[in-house]
Amino acid sequence: MKKRLLCALLALSLFTLPGCKRDPEPVEVTAFAMDTVMQLTACSGDTGGTRAFLGELTARLTELDSQLSATREDSFVYAVNHAGGEWVEVPDSTVLALLHDALSLCEVTGGALDITTYPAVKAWGFTGEERRVPSPAELEALAEKIDYTAVALSDWAGEGRRGGAALPQGMEMDLGAVAKGFAGDLLAGEVREVGITSALLDLGQSTIVAVGSKPQGTPWRIGVVDPAQPGSCFAVVELEDCAMGTSGGYQRYFEQDGITYWHILDPDTAAPARSGLASVTVVSPSALICDGLSTALFVMGLEEGAQFWRDHPELEFEAVFVTEDGEIYCTAGLERRFTLAEGFEDREVTVLE
Ligand code: AMP
Ligand code: MG
Repeated sequence: MKKRLLCALLALSLFTLPGCKRDPEPVEVTAFAMDTVMQLTACSGDTGGTRAFLGELTARLTELDSQLSATREDSFVYAVNHAGGEWVEVPDSTVLALLHDALSLCEVTGGALDITTYPAVKAWGFTGEERRVPSPAELEALAEKIDYTAVALSDWAGEGRRGGAALPQGMEMDLGAVAKGFAGDLLAGEVREVGITSALLDLGQSTIVAVGSKPQGTPWRIGVVDPAQPGSCFAVVELEDCAMGTSGGYQRYFEQDGITYWHILDPDTAAPARSGLASVTVVSPSALICDGLSTALFVMGLEEGAQFWRDHPELEFEAVFVTEDGEIYCTAGLERRFTLAEGFEDREVTVLE
């Protein structure tokens, strides 16, 4: 958590610099949702109104969390996972939209992102207190059951129906790889709608959305965590009406017998993705793309991930890959907005074309 705060501080510190006194006071609220601390900051002339509005946004986050949590027994996702193959009505059109978006990303990434990885996530103990290494036979059985194409969605038009979802018995889904990004886009839309032109929505676990620029008119500057020393940021990315998301093995992991096991799983093996990458950062106007693709590109690895970037200009994203050996690769479209942080200037950055 400290590292995120540190990186966010990089962005916020300029509010307090001398010479910025006439800028609107930043209003900041903190929320705990989706298993992480979130920090919403907005700048407008109306401090009281902005605080109340941000409070409403945190309530929206709590509501989304209660619908999407895979562990809360009263959530929609939990209901789908325990319906024994029966249809479960979606709570509202927002959740239906998220399911459609998530499945599209599963499809476009060829299943590197797969929302039905959840039984494997559970088997490794990443949802609870006790981590464990499943046996090869268990992993094989788990991998066989991972298949996002088995998720059924229905729009159930008319008659006040809101749509539904169903999963074959024995399968379970989890929107953990995309929900923060989806929430970021949703909240950013509401921020823009009320006319706030400068805000920073930190959804936690390295998903961040910049609305507009800093009050001074310069881009937000967001640090990218060094996966080798998660307490520091090795680079800074400039964001203006843009989002950024990072997936990395350092974010949630455990060690056993000298081996590190992290929470990003390869749907083909049901085991932690060993692609040679330590982290992937995605920059895009869409926070959902950032969140979903950072997870997927981590699974793909550098070569496949870079090719995916070349093949999908329509997804409008750029990426920074850091390998387990500490090599840094940055896609060409990000070059002008990407700088190495102080103390890291001697690191080599390979630009991917
Ligand atoms: P993120 O932190 O956004 O990279 O998402 C990782 C989370 O998504 C994990 O904690 C799991 O709950 C879940 N997950 C792990 N591997 C995958 C995968 N390949 N596709 C979809 N979700 C995954
Ligand atoms: Mg993600």
